[in-house]
Amino acid sequence: MGPETVAAVQALLPQAGVTLGVMGGGQLGRMFVHAAQAMGYRTAVLDPDAESPAGLVSHTHIVAAYDDPAALAQFGALCAAVTTEFENVPAQVLRTLAAHCVVSPPAAAVSVAQDRALEKAHFVRCGVACAPYAVIETAAHLQAVPDALLPGILKTARMGYDGKGQIRVADRAALAQAWDALHQVPCVLEKMLPLAAECSVLVARGADGAMVHFPVQRNLHRDGILAVTEVFAGNLPAPVAAYAVAAAESIAQGLDYVGLLCVEFFVLQDGSLVVNEIAPRPHNSGHYTLDACDQSQFSLQVRTLAGLPLTPPRQHSAAVMLNLLGDIWAGGTPDWSAVLALPGTHLHLYGKAQARTGRKMGHLNITAASPEQAHAVALQAAQLLGIAAF
Ligand code: ATP
Ligand code: MG
Repeated sequence: MGPETVAAVQALLPQAGVTLGVMGGGQLGRMFVHAAQAMGYRTAVLDPDAESPAGLVSHTHIVAAYDDPAALAQFGALCAAVTTEFENVPAQVLRTLAAHCVVSPPAAAVSVAQDRALEKAHFVRCGVACAPYAVIETAAHLQAVPDALLPGILKTARMGYDGKGQIRVADRAALAQAWDALHQVPCVLEKMLPLAAECSVLVARGADGAMVHFPVQRNLHRDGILAVTEVFAGNLPAPVAAYAVAAAESIAQGLDYVGLLCVEFFVLQDGSLVVNEIAPRPHNSGHYTLDACDQSQFSLQVRTLAGLPLTPPRQHSAAVMLNLLGDIWAGGTPDWSAVLALPGTHLHLYGKAQARTGRKMGHLNITAASPEQAHAVALQAAQLLGIAAF
């Protein structure tokens, strides 16, 4: 075990005075806080925004920059264990915290996830196919890009999310222009692949190497942002789902990962599967687990962080998740009464005051006894909310 794998040798049992912390105060942190508090832990959030969704519901909210040394020392002293809700926490910050308390996922794994070039190299190492790509850091790299990668998508190596920091390019001239537009930062050019579908898998891995996973989620993206997730038997061909789970487990194992990991995949038109990217944290596509499974992705995140036993989660209802983006607030507050009158609807809002286009404000889970019913109710809810049909 490397020095960066900080294992919780002894479980942090929930009891008075044990605080679990999360770096980042967004919706993922908020749902982590909910899960940790439900199990009896105290919680702490580090986020510079005094009104952050997680900070608003946590016992403690340290309002400070992620790399503020005094705040980190305070946070590390308060928390028995700390996790992160976004991958752009500087890896060095996680290393600093690891001197004070348990930290998972390990800094080394997060640093792979926060850099597309390192991430793809890891996929290659694990023998999991990804889109053909080239790393572009210099003008010479740009010149040397093979024609076979075009048309493609130029993505900044770091800091992208929800399709930001990405430009689709048809030819070499467009590629050069796009790299300029991205200020010539290190990028990855990926070949544009013919997608039949997208899917993702959540794996939880303990410090002892034990792994459990959720069913494979089928995802629909619009404008680079997740719009709909559907999870029920038959949502994907069985061999595709089985391969996705095996690939996700080998990626987690290869990172010596501890925590909850999401692995996103493309299903190509020929039926083959290629890995897209990983997220070292719970994921938007796993929000259905809050209502459709006997454990949520957040409760498993808590278990991995506290070194508690991992048992396989069980999905008990067919599920559809609709992302609620700021767009649907354009005409005022949506008519939640009409939506909640539909059977099996579960509304989750993140407590964000400002609704902006493309901003994730919440999600709606629809659970039902059958896939057909879940789909039908989800379509009705989408129509009420002005979300395009799927
Ligand atoms: P997030 O982190 O929010 O998931 P992101 O900004 O990291 O998103 P990607 O996952 O890289 O972005 O891409 C966003 C979407 O763009 C994908 O889900 C897919 O729909 C499309 N896309 C990305 N890369 C390719 C590709 N090589 N070929 C075809 N479509 C792609
Ligand atoms: Mg993505």
